[in-house]
Amino acid sequence: MSKKLIVAIDGPAGSGKSTSAKIIAQKLNYLYIDTGAMYRAVTFLAIKQGIMDNPEAIVNVAENSDIRLKYVNGVTQVFVDGIDITKNIRTHELNDKVSSVSKIAGVRKALVKKQRMLKNEGEGIVMEGRDIGTVVFPDADVKIFLTALLDKRAERRAKEYEKKGTGVPVHTIKDNLSKRDALDSSRDTNPLIKANDAFEVDSSKISIEEQVELILQRVKKAAVEKGIEILSTE
Ligand code: C5P
Repeated sequence: MSKKLIVAIDGPAGSGKSTSAKIIAQKLNYLYIDTGAMYRAVTFLAIKQGIMDNPEAIVNVAENSDIRLKYVNGVTQVFVDGIDITKNIRTHELNDKVSSVSKIAGVRKALVKKQRMLKNEGEGIVMEGRDIGTVVFPDADVKIFLTALLDKRAERRAKEYEKKGTGVPVHTIKDNLSKRDALDSSRDTNPLIKANDAFEVDSSKISIEEQVELILQRVKKAAVEKGIEILSTE
């Protein structure tokens, strides 16, 4: 089977990771994985089971729950032990709590293990998160670190909520994003940092199309260097 690329896209919330990762995966016909959905699933279970103050119990949930992602029509569907929790993982309560779950070392260990197992032999993958290029796939063929100014990211999220019909004030979103950024970047285990060999893209002043184009250029470069054939992306 011919070799395919591993594309790692990391960065803070609202930097455009999901949007660009989905487009890149579609263009290359690669598997798309949103690892944030897995941390959200564990947080959902921890809230539901009333164990938010019990890290050991949360680790147990992360280790022993069957978390599955299914990407259908542009949406990552999330199932835990066969139950569809897609609609439950993007609430405000969860946005506020997810970073305190994702900082637990045992939770990260369990989910990183699951994430590595999602890469099938011979299949290309675009995985997005906070530690993909640094921890999950440190040997990834392409590493992208996406950033954008906080105001810009909050504005984008507000527009997304608006489209879904759930208006959330920009200042509430901004507050959540900056708290999550701080927690995600300062935690002891696998913090959000740019890998030394990652290519940084600041999406503050560029369009999605330009963002995707910059990433695709890196993908094409890596493919040529490694003698890997990729689908025509024209
Ligand atoms: O990507 P998303 O914003 O949905 O991620 C939700 C949260 O999950 C992040 O704020 C972060 O705390 C955690 N996360 C993580 N490592 C990843 C992906 C997400 O810690 N690889």
